[in-house]
Amino acid sequence: MTKISLLFRTFLIRVITLCISHATYVQASVSVDIVIEQPQHHYALITINFETFASEQTNFYLPTWRTGRYEIINLANGIREFTALDSQGNKLDWKKVDKDTWQVQGTLNKKVKISYQVYANQLGQRTRHIDDSHAYLDASTVVMYSEVTRDQEHTINLQVPATWNSVSGLESGENSHQFIAENYDVLVDSPIETGINEHHKFSVEDHAYELVIWGKGNYDSAKIVADLKQLVQQSKHIWQGYPFKRYVFMVHATSGARGATEHLNSTIIQTSRFKFSQRKDYLRFISTAAHEFIHTWNVKQYRPKGLVPYDYQKENYSTLLWLSEGSTSYLQNQLLLRGDLMSSKEFLESLAKRITGYIHKPGRESQTVAQASFNKWLEEGGDYDNNHSVNIYSEGFLVSWLLDFSIMEKTALEKSYRDVHNMLYQHYKIPKSFDENDLLIILKDLTHDDYRLWWQENVHGHVEVDFNNLLAKAGLTMSYGKKNEQKQKAWVGIKTKKTTSGLQITSVEKNSPAWQAGLTLSDIIVAVNGLRMADKDLTTRLKNFKPKDRMSVTFFRRDELVTRMIILGSLPKSKLKIVPLESASDGQKAFFKYWTGLEFPAK
Ligand SMILES: [Zn+2]
Repeated sequence: MTKISLLFRTFLIRVITLCISHATYVQASVSVDIVIEQPQHHYALITINFETFASEQTNFYLPTWRTGRYEIINLANGIREFTALDSQGNKLDWKKVDKDTWQVQGTLNKKVKISYQVYANQLGQRTRHIDDSHAYLDASTVVMYSEVTRDQEHTINLQVPATWNSVSGLESGENSHQFIAENYDVLVDSPIETGINEHHKFSVEDHAYELVIWGKGNYDSAKIVADLKQLVQQSKHIWQGYPFKRYVFMVHATSGARGATEHLNSTIIQTSRFKFSQRKDYLRFISTAAHEFIHTWNVKQYRPKGLVPYDYQKENYSTLLWLSEGSTSYLQNQLLLRGDLMSSKEFLESLAKRITGYIHKPGRESQTVAQASFNKWLEEGGDYDNNHSVNIYSEGFLVSWLLDFSIMEKTALEKSYRDVHNMLYQHYKIPKSFDENDLLIILKDLTHDDYRLWWQENVHGHVEVDFNNLLAKAGLTMSYGKKNEQKQKAWVGIKTKKTTSGLQITSVEKNSPAWQAGLTLSDIIVAVNGLRMADKDLTTRLKNFKPKDRMSVTFFRRDELVTRMIILGSLPKSKLKIVPLESASDGQKAFFKYWTGLEFPAK
């Protein structure tokens, strides 16, 4: 070997050594071991190894909420046996400084290992659930973080029963039970499903998809795969480009849990195990899949200010959550209709159901969608909410619909609400965020019009909609059936449930006949016009009455018997239908087609 080549070799070695030490410095990482040895007892042992800290004391946090559910859910309630050690195995002192924060002393210049037990028995909240057949782990409910390591790469090592199969939107590591997350934010937005499951893989237009199903049920996975293939291609009608290379649909076919949550490049959908075969059930399932898939852009790629970056320790406020949820419900139909997964008949039926809901939603007079968004963290549901609140999903859908039609009209079918969402994706991707002013700029850009007044009236105001006028733009109208058009039936305005003592009132619509007569939540109806109320519900009994009749109702209110007189109101006898106008013009038909992607329905 010549002297020059020797020198060159020494130089190379020094460069490589420098690169390696630099790489080590840059790529500080967190390693998380999750051990599930006795899954039947619903707990896991978590050990997290952190690299050297630069401060004397370090706070380790467990989030107090999880993404996709804007509600404080106190996840730290399932943590026990916390310990902290340095790399020599010496115990470090720690104390809790609030319900979600473990403060460890003596961390300066030390590598730290923390460990604890997590109790995971919350299936319905899509947070953490472990049993003898599987584990579903949303890391925000299982893995602690510190502020200084939040941006570091996290490696998850699962130790699970031998027959289990592990799946996540995360990249796999050295084995099938190891996952790598770029940072803590990616980790908490990429839940892990591990256990005994069905696992299908497919690809569409160079993108890889997976379907993983835990639980037995009456599903046909081949049909689900075929329909998901159709569904995922339709996103091109809204956005230019995909924010992922691989996407995972996770399904829990189970009992007692219903709902779904969006994540970065995956979703978790929970549904009753026997709610797949009937068309109406299946339509609900595939609509949920469409909803969550829309979120991959709307929420996961662009989010209102106030939610970027997520603050996991407290509420994240925004007046635009209606756009995150209501728009998603609105746009899910775009995917379903264009992918031939929902017929125009089914679409019009779902719209009729929504309109019926809006008509019986007194809360629209009390709250705006902006207020509902801001107060989402307080939402309780129930009778008070129905009468005095709006919902970011349903009323968010309504505002999205109004905005869509407004843009379509103003641009003579050149632009639509879909373009608003594509512009949000193209120009406001995280780490950017958007506010109401940014939306006004986008709307001006698309329509050359000023939307400030519209925004005040519909987002910060109480929306009043003439539905027939709205539907007419697309050549549609409301109908309560031709023959029965004028026929009305008696209406009280309550919902009830059967109890052993009688019919218990579960809700009273504000200003309805029952409301006017003073009936309220939890009253137990026992008699109507002096005769025992033995029927399953009031419907049968009401058939003997006409609108404007007087009906005496006897009920128990906290054990005291009370009688009140109700002057009955009226309701259309038939269900609301949305039907095509016979005289629809070519312009109205074109509007319908631009809106739905479908030909105008024949009748
Ligand atoms: Zn949603």
